[in-house]
Amino acid sequence: MSKVVYQGRSYERLDDESVLRCLLRNEIRVPYSCESGACQACTMQAIKGTPPPGSQDDLKETQKSLGYFKACVCRPDEDLEVALLDDAHNHKYQMEVVERSFLNDEILRLRLKCSESFEYRAGQFINIFKGDLIRSYSLASVPDVDEMLELHIKRVPGGVVSNWLCDDVQTGDRLTITGPMGECFYHETNGDGLLAVGTGSGLAPLWGIVRDALGRGYDRPIIVCHGAMKPENLYYVDELRQLVETHENVSYFPCLSDVAEGDLPAGMSLGFPNDIAFAQQPSLAKWQVFLCGNPEMVNNTKRKAFLVGASLKNIHADPFVMASPS
Ligand SMILES: Cc1cc2nc3c(=O)[nH]c(=O)nc-3n(C[C@H](O)[C@H](O)[C@H](O)COP(=O)(O)OP(=O)(O)OC[C@H]3O[C@@H](n4cnc5c(N)ncnc54)[C@H](O)[C@@H]3O)c2cc1C
Repeated sequence: MSKVVYQGRSYERLDDESVLRCLLRNEIRVPYSCESGACQACTMQAIKGTPPPGSQDDLKETQKSLGYFKACVCRPDEDLEVALLDDAHNHKYQMEVVERSFLNDEILRLRLKCSESFEYRAGQFINIFKGDLIRSYSLASVPDVDEMLELHIKRVPGGVVSNWLCDDVQTGDRLTITGPMGECFYHETNGDGLLAVGTGSGLAPLWGIVRDALGRGYDRPIIVCHGAMKPENLYYVDELRQLVETHENVSYFPCLSDVAEGDLPAGMSLGFPNDIAFAQQPSLAKWQVFLCGNPEMVNNTKRKAFLVGASLKNIHADPFVMASPS
């Protein structure tokens, strides 16, 4: 089994152990959250040796060339000498909470202001720190359009960070964050259309991505399918309908999975947003596809989108995987 070298000491990896688990087992504190390669909180740098390619997925090309890798999904065949990213490589921003309001019973909108320049693409995510805990939240705002950064936070029963944000964090408070991260943003291409499918607060990045595409002059069909169980779990229905009014290439399907057919409100669809999406657009060849929210929905839809013609490079997915227990 290969070894992980950290600060001059060698640690043997056990069986299929990741670099992250090997270091944690040896009581080396490495920041981490989702432990599935999504949140990038455990990004480290290889000083000697080559990280396996899968451990560099979704990192920027510049980061890859510097040997950055995600420790939680790194299982190297060869010995790897590694370092934690220092503050210069992992800049922490202070964001002031300037507005907070609930979009429905379970989803909080936070608007944040950064005291320094913060460049991002609509749809990317940031990592918020609560002490040692780190959680990812996607950006719903569009740079140059929205003055503030916007987050949609769903309250998770028993969830440490979402409940802290929903109950304790007030306007005027400062949040420590890193980012932006992720590849789930609009890429200018000559494709035939753009499909955006999300559940719950998975609408956050989609709201940014769709408005970003429109702002950049995207004039081919855009289909937005947002799913929730009941009408009261949806949000931004009026805002999305307004987008449809002002842009003839946009269609919007609010989808409800837990209502009786007779109780379905007018203009809403019965079923899961991914099923409604495929019914609307059975072939996705040359389409850009954006999938966010419930991990099971995202991963199943990603597979199906590929099977109906979308190329993998045009499928952008952010499964909102939960943090692994610390
Ligand atoms: C790339 C990325 C982007 C994300 N973007 C967003 C976003 O824009 N908005 C948003 O609201 N969330 C988003 N998330 C999820 C978010 O990071 C947290 O996982 C979520 O807020 C729960 O954190 P917590 O500390 O409250 O719960 P925890 O304390 O981590 O979990 C408490 C308990 O709740 C359960 N649990 C955790 N998450 C969920 C869940 N989603 N559904 C059901 N049960 C759960 C766990 O089993 C655990 O037992 C994103 C995640 C990723 C990886």
